[in-house]
Amino acid sequence: ASESGPYDAVIIGGGPGGYVAAIKAAQHGLKTACIEKRGSLGGTCLNVGCIPSKAMLNNSHIYHQTLHDVKKRGIEVEGVSLNLPQMLKAKQDSVVGLTKGVEVLFKQNKVDYIKGTASFVSPTRIAVQLNDGGETEVEAKNVIIATGSEVTPFPGEGLEIDEVQVVSSTGALDLQKVPEKMVVIGGGVIGLELGSVWSRLGAQVTVVEFMGGIGGAGIDEEIAKQFQRSLQKQGLKFKLNTKVLSAEKKDGKVHVKTEAAKGGKEEILEADVVLLAIGRRPFTKGLNLEKIGVEMDNKGRIVIDDQFNTTVQNVKCIGDVTFGPMLAHKAEEEGIAAVEFIKTGHGHVNYHAIPSVIYTHPEVSWVGKTEQELKAAGVEYKIGKFPFTANSRAKTNVDMEGQVKFLTEKETDRVLGVHIMGPNAGEMIAEATLAIEYGASSEDIARTCHAHPTLSEAFKEAAMASYDKAIHF
Ligand code: FAD
Ligand code: NAD
Repeated sequence: ASESGPYDAVIIGGGPGGYVAAIKAAQHGLKTACIEKRGSLGGTCLNVGCIPSKAMLNNSHIYHQTLHDVKKRGIEVEGVSLNLPQMLKAKQDSVVGLTKGVEVLFKQNKVDYIKGTASFVSPTRIAVQLNDGGETEVEAKNVIIATGSEVTPFPGEGLEIDEVQVVSSTGALDLQKVPEKMVVIGGGVIGLELGSVWSRLGAQVTVVEFMGGIGGAGIDEEIAKQFQRSLQKQGLKFKLNTKVLSAEKKDGKVHVKTEAAKGGKEEILEADVVLLAIGRRPFTKGLNLEKIGVEMDNKGRIVIDDQFNTTVQNVKCIGDVTFGPMLAHKAEEEGIAAVEFIKTGHGHVNYHAIPSVIYTHPEVSWVGKTEQELKAAGVEYKIGKFPFTANSRAKTNVDMEGQVKFLTEKETDRVLGVHIMGPNAGEMIAEATLAIEYGASSEDIARTCHAHPTLSEAFKEAAMASYDKAIHF
């Protein structure tokens, strides 16, 4: 029997895609339920992703600054030591505060929160194994699948995740002791963010990356090189163009066997903890998609059209489990647009204007095209750059590594891409995203008054440098 249906919309998964879709659906007057099996809302992002990693990044940065940076600012501190259990608690407090907050939003917006695991009986009927035991079924006019992603396991021998010695990001956010040596497999976003955390807390971190550069897909090559130099100065070591073959656990350590892509030279890296961060894959286990005819591609992603429709009528899909970058804000945008399609028949996500941020120090952020993409497409472009060493606020803060780099269309001056490495790059990229969304030219930005002294003046001057000359550099 139906619990309290039939619902206008049932959302499977309570991550950033699913919970935002549920709230928006309820706000639009749809009778809405959200089914989540984790026992708390917020998905990967709030529970074991964006939020706990940013808490650890922020607090490990403060610790590192206190040890290595504050003396020159006239602050004398003695007896600084790490209280890791307290740092982990502070992280968990942020997680609990935010996930409980989403529950409150559900109540305020009258979203029914069903705690359990969903499985399709038919396209409009969903069985739920309740977390508290027992089963129920719900009837839905529309379903949105938002079941997210999971860690991609490593195919080689000896690298099965045990979350103690061989950890995924989830284990790496909860290590009870700072490892002496950490090997990170994968120099993408997770590897660099969590590698930074443990390096700042005292671990010797070596990142093994398959490709010739760090930062994962979408990063501008020039920025990636600059970023790598910056992380190296902080003590991280990199082995690029290197393949991990297998690993062996011996005497409490993990011996990771690697091979150079060129020449095939083998090496053994010893680690106390190995972090596996080679990407994530869509999660659809147990949904019974084959039974109702929802198609998936060869990477396990649910196939959708440009209105988020799967191959089954009235079943839509958003977020990490379908195409596109695996980012929380991308999932949220899709959640709102999918609901708008249900309610009004119209919705919109601009995939050319989705920002990316790596929350290290300095931060790295970008939106739009990279220089290598423009070259490959034969687009004629101009470059405008401005280094933070020439920005008054960065100089005042003694935090001036990095630059802002604009890429504009040569003929029209339209902004095609912006790439930033520097303090607060993650906040600054919002301005670039707005520019791309509105089809702005670099002159539009440079003629917009920016407050002094702010880091955002570096943004304005890089825009100015793309069609004219910057003032301060
Ligand atoms: P998810 O957040 O994965 O949520 C899916 C939910 O569905 C899960 O809670 C799961 O329990 C539930 N579910 C699955 N199957 C069922 C079922 N059958 N029944 C009921 N419930 C089910 N992104 C950013 O934008 N910024 C960041 O800083 C960032 N940092 C990250 C750091 C780490 C360490 C990780 C791992 C990821 C990070 N991400 C970040 C990525 C971000 O977490 C994801 O892109 C985002 O969570 C995707 O949202 P989603 O709603 O599609 O899926
Ligand atoms: P990623 O795709 O960002 O990086 C994986 C890296 O591993 C790539 O550089 C890849 O070349 C490398 N790699 C793949 N196979 C390898 C192998 N066998 N040996 C060595 N290197 C190998 O994936 P991730 O860092 O695991 O992150 C997963 C997802 O989570 C990403 O899609 C990312 O968008 C998201 N995320 C986002 C943020 C953020 O927005 N700040 C933070 C963390 C995670």
